[in-house]
Amino acid sequence: MDDSTNLGYYYCIDCKHIGRLTNMYFDKCEKCISDNCIIFHNKITIPLYEIDMLKQVSRDKKFLQAMVDLQENDIIEYQMRINQIEQQINIQKHQSQSNQPRCPKCGSTAISTGARGVNYLWGFIGASKTVNRCSNCGHTWKPRG
Ligand SMILES: [Zn+2]
Ligand SMILES: [Zn+2]
Repeated sequence: MDDSTNLGYYYCIDCKHIGRLTNMYFDKCEKCISDNCIIFHNKITIPLYEIDMLKQVSRDKKFLQAMVDLQENDIIEYQMRINQIEQQINIQKHQSQSNQPRCPKCGSTAISTGARGVNYLWGFIGASKTVNRCSNCGHTWKPRG
């Protein structure tokens, strides 16, 4: 083990490459030549799924680096922020899911909602006059909620 030469790691926001720092001054991602990278001064201390989560909030390098620094300096404050962000993302996910119906058969979001007054044709789906139709597979179903 040659830990004395460990200068830390970088994470490339653009291509998700993780590389070792080879000198004191970070230059560019060795894979995609982007300089949109954040620096871990010792080792990767943030799990990658948390980095992905943070990237949903902002892909700004300064924001992400600030979170890395915060994690290294004040883990409690960092955890608090991560929890807040996680909640926020879950709420957003929930909202976008309820705004965007999916076909229960194939999962496609290409859905048209139509009002159907012809009950003898659509009677099998119940009394509702509204029906969703998947443009992908043709499946029709009664919208919920
Ligand atoms: Zn890269
Ligand atoms: Zn479908």
